Amino acid sequence: MDAAKEPMNPYSLVEEHFRLQAPQKAALKRLGISTIEDLLYHFPTRYGDTATAHSIASLRQGDTAVVFGLIGKLKTSKGFRTKIPMGEGVISDGSGSIKAVWFNQPYLAKMIADGTTVRIEGKVSARKKTGELYLSNPQVEKVERIPDGVGDSLFGADGPAHTLYPVYPESRGVTSNWIYHAVKKALASGIIDTMRDPLPKDTLDRYHLPTLASALVWIHAPIKESDAMAARKRFAFEEVFFIQLERQRERRAWQKDPAFVIDPPKESLNGFISRFPFPLTAAQKGSIDDILADFRKGHAMARLLEGDVGSGKTAVAATTAYAAISTRPRGQDFGTLQVAYMAPTEILATQHFESFIQYFRHMPVSIALITGSGCRKFPAKVPTFRNGVRQDWTDISRAQLLKWVASGEISAVIGTHALIQKSVKFKNLAYAIVDEQHRFGTSQRQKLVERNNVPGTTPHLLSMTATPIPRTLALTIYGDLDISLLDEMPAGRKTIITEAASSDTERDGMYEEMRRELAQGRQAYVICPRIDEPDPANEMAVQAKSVIEEAKRLASSIFKEYSVAPLHGKMKDSEKERVMQEFKNGKIDVLVATSVVEVGVNVPNATVILIEGAERFGLSQLHQLRGRVVRSNHQAYCFLFAESQGDKTVGRLKALITAKNGFELAEFDLKQRGMGQLYGGKQWGVSDVGMDAIQNVKMVEAARKEAIALIEGDESLASFPLMKAEIERRERQGIHFE
Ligand code: ADP
Ligand code: MG
Repeated sequence: MDAAKEPMNPYSLVEEHFRLQAPQKAALKRLGISTIEDLLYHFPTRYGDTATAHSIASLRQGDTAVVFGLIGKLKTSKGFRTKIPMGEGVISDGSGSIKAVWFNQPYLAKMIADGTTVRIEGKVSARKKTGELYLSNPQVEKVERIPDGVGDSLFGADGPAHTLYPVYPESRGVTSNWIYHAVKKALASGIIDTMRDPLPKDTLDRYHLPTLASALVWIHAPIKESDAMAARKRFAFEEVFFIQLERQRERRAWQKDPAFVIDPPKESLNGFISRFPFPLTAAQKGSIDDILADFRKGHAMARLLEGDVGSGKTAVAATTAYAAISTRPRGQDFGTLQVAYMAPTEILATQHFESFIQYFRHMPVSIALITGSGCRKFPAKVPTFRNGVRQDWTDISRAQLLKWVASGEISAVIGTHALIQKSVKFKNLAYAIVDEQHRFGTSQRQKLVERNNVPGTTPHLLSMTATPIPRTLALTIYGDLDISLLDEMPAGRKTIITEAASSDTERDGMYEEMRRELAQGRQAYVICPRIDEPDPANEMAVQAKSVIEEAKRLASSIFKEYSVAPLHGKMKDSEKERVMQEFKNGKIDVLVATSVVEVGVNVPNATVILIEGAERFGLSQLHQLRGRVVRSNHQAYCFLFAESQGDKTVGRLKALITAKNGFELAEFDLKQRGMGQLYGGKQWGVSDVGMDAIQNVKMVEAARKEAIALIEGDESLASFPLMKAEIERRERQGIHFE
């Protein structure tokens, strides 16, 4: 591969420099790489080491091996049946030879010439029919010589060009190997000399961090481990610093304009609270007080309400919404201040709509629901009956709803993403609530706020989440928000009994326990990882249970005397709602569902959840799912079935069984992810490098301090154009984190 004549432009697109096929383009997009700079910021997750080199004769199936040798017989071909384009070659050392096969990347065979000395690293696989061994999709690199003592070397005795070898996060279509070569080409073009360091020099000096130029070389092509570590530290600092910078700017922008002052009389608020069928917990009261204090300040609240699943966030949202709804906008004798309440799924939005009707039905206010499948309004002039249940709301057209929202006729609008479309305009939007906020991006929250019709005011914002996160992570990603904690469960809640199992006999035992609960009138969830029949091309999926099949099986052979029904994302919305309604009414005893029920669904009578294929779900997702059955004071059970019994699965499930609450689980999760698990921090928009840093309190605090100082000195970053450009790059990349 020839080095380009002039340095690549870091802001130019990858596709301007490399010929890309559609699957590669898609893979790069998934990896968040569009420009050359993005590529250079795509860091290795670990480094291979030449010390693990094998002789070809000693290779066994299943090994991940490093081999040095001469490559030859390079050619491209197509898979016999699959028609997959392939590249192949044969590597020989003194002890023997082995084939290398690159599926989907025939060009690799063209990039090296026959007779080149290479270092090659990959998985040793065996042909099904013949048992012949080959290296599948190995990473390949030209080396000057074969290192001493490797294989039965016929070649020189000097070391290879590098001793450390980068291994990159991959995505189907783009291998670590491809990235390695692309990065190498970019570096060889002299690009580093054209890139300017976005971090100020005195900051680098203060924390003994390498410059951008050194760090880029060290992270992609380190000669020694300590260089790679220093580079990672620098990029980690840089990432946390930029996240902080962005958050601090957002906070300032947020609080620039005035907000509605909301200050309801105490008695009226207490009256509202007394209508709940339970006393509020001290934590709920404390959070409500935090919010009310913010409401009085005259600039917009930006607050995160963090509470474990089942801690009662909805009641806090409803009470504070009441504070807004019972306030009349100054100088207007019609309508109230308005509230927008956004939830990530239709099921959840509908559920909140119904709760709000219960909480507000004694008041003369209108409440609306807006989702992709239609709009509703409470109260209805005449109550109707649907599926045998009285309903006080009525279907209305979207146009009608938008009109009433714009005129101020409707006080509270609850909805999904449909709530943040441009056509939705409020007359007096004073308060925006975002439930399960980690499901939304910052830009979506921003759009919600822009629905406000009152020029020059910003609504108060309450973000709610059940994702408990350690303090350092909270400081980093929620740097712009004040935090209220619901660190207390409603009185009388029992610790959920969690058990893990993997054999069919154990599963039968758990069905027995479920039956016992059902016999007492309780209900159960069964969660499956898939919706329907497996894709036969995907071997992994074959074993995972599917909702549709499992619902049939349970209905016909395990829970014959009970009513069993499936629920999944591919069902029609009306169908989903009917099933959910029947489960709530107790007509359905066992709900067999995908993780669509993961967030927020509230059916207090359901006390058992059985999760099939538990190893396929993330830890926080499992915790969320388990949260479906901690909604009452009945003893609840969570059964976890894992099909694989790897150490990692066992460790994770054990953490789930022993962790007392979501916080402990989050700490465990962070430690695991920090160990370099691919894409660990993605759900928070933090890279692996950043996640490593986040475990280091000192580093997080230092980065935060630097960012705050900088923003205080120069809010618009006018004198830091490089930083501005970097923030923009990060925002652009952030899109891929959704
Ligand atoms: P989450 O915080 O997960 O959103 P919810 O708001 O859905 O939790 O509340 C979970 C359940 O607990 C609901 O059935 C709700 O009515 C009930 N609940 C809320 N607060 C209390 C309380 N203080 N005492 C008893 N039950 C409560
Ligand atoms: Mg909730």
